Amino acid sequence: MRPIKKLLIANRGEIALRIHRACHEMGIQTVAVHSTADADAMHVRLADQAICIGPPSATDSYLNIPNIISAAEISGADAIHPGYGFLSENARFAEIVEMHDLLFVGPKPEHIRTMGDKVEAKRTAGKLGLPLVPGSDGAISDVDEARRLAAGIGYPVIIKAASGGGGRGMKVCENEDTLETLMQQAGREAKAAFGDATVYMEKYLGNPRHIEFQIFGDGNGNAIHLGERDCSLQRRHQKVLEEAPSPIITAEERARMGGIVAKAMADMGYRGAGTIEFLWEAGEFYFIEMNTRLQVEHPVTEMITGIDLVREQIRVAEGHPLSVTQDQVQFHGHAIECRINAEDPRTFAPSPGLVKQFHAPGGMHVRVDSGLYAGYKVPPYYDSMIAKLIVYGTTRERCIARLRRALEEFVIDGMKTTIPLHRNLIEDPEFQSGDYTIKWLEDWLARETQ
Ligand code: ADP
Repeated sequence: MRPIKKLLIANRGEIALRIHRACHEMGIQTVAVHSTADADAMHVRLADQAICIGPPSATDSYLNIPNIISAAEISGADAIHPGYGFLSENARFAEIVEMHDLLFVGPKPEHIRTMGDKVEAKRTAGKLGLPLVPGSDGAISDVDEARRLAAGIGYPVIIKAASGGGGRGMKVCENEDTLETLMQQAGREAKAAFGDATVYMEKYLGNPRHIEFQIFGDGNGNAIHLGERDCSLQRRHQKVLEEAPSPIITAEERARMGGIVAKAMADMGYRGAGTIEFLWEAGEFYFIEMNTRLQVEHPVTEMITGIDLVREQIRVAEGHPLSVTQDQVQFHGHAIECRINAEDPRTFAPSPGLVKQFHAPGGMHVRVDSGLYAGYKVPPYYDSMIAKLIVYGTTRERCIARLRRALEEFVIDGMKTTIPLHRNLIEDPEFQSGDYTIKWLEDWLARETQ
């Protein structure tokens, strides 16, 4: 057991604030690191100590490993939490943190590395008994072999980059005539974007839902699941609104599939929080990838389970066992998260700038995770997400009614935001019925913006 007294938060924005809050509730001091563009950020203001680690460009600041490690040493921090994005899935960073005798609040480096390579991740998931999308057993380079494989799987197929991320480096192939060209294109794009031309093949599912399971391991062979989140509402493979539970998963299905993922993680000896992502079609789950970190959408799980995931991450990093057993995890009601971006709600053009007025909604079961305040200037250098609105209701219907009320109250003046998009979206009868897939939102947007 190694109690953490001071924790360095290697991130910015709402997630840095989220981690700071968990720390202060646990009596842990916080060290914020920030770029010169973030000197006025809320996470910097609230932290017990703040250290500037470089200029605005993320490569020189939030991704600058030597500066972050120096900041930890100078401040006397005993642990580092990477949040999501930035260095959170960088196995080398996790190793360097541990080499400096600091606790890494996250998984073991070898698990980050394995799951970061999608070919390796699929192979591991298959060995652990998770259902896979039919596809190549590993990387493919030979065109004849790819042709034989695709004929066996059946078109359409999708060519994906082994080092891919953020929905990039994927090509859907409809028939044999285009296979060779698309494989070459995918390889070139993968090389340019990720420095690795390795590609693999999967059956392309026509109209699936994106359903992911939250898991937690203690690193010693015990693991639990905290149910699923439905993240099918996506634009360009980016999640826009997430909910828990999924409107189409029954309690029996949750227990069955949750049991499978928890056992897989226990067998692996996984430590900390993780998410197993599946595509779901016609009652079947197909593993696509694992994220070895906290997710943006983790609060919907917190709302329906009452478990503070960041607190749990910190406790596990300190060496504690999991604070609950699977039997003690109970699911109550329904939660929805809206990601609010500083973007034009029709064109999605970025719209950073000065926050003239800020009024966050409140009241029962309404949570706003955001670093905004009136007078704050949103810098143009980083991700455009500026707030998350998370709402709970005893039923999905009551959750949507409360979300409507909360979105009515929300004021962010001074820039364009996606609040109006969410206001419209939740009025759609198909959204309200829960009947949607990963294609649905883009079709809806095309209709809305006609
Ligand atoms: P990334 O790591 O780039 O996010 P994922 O493998 O998680 O890549 O896939 C991102 C999204 O791409 C999925 O949520 C889904 O919308 C789509 N996708 C990926 N694989 C398939 C597939 N085999 N069939 C259909 N859609 C897919």
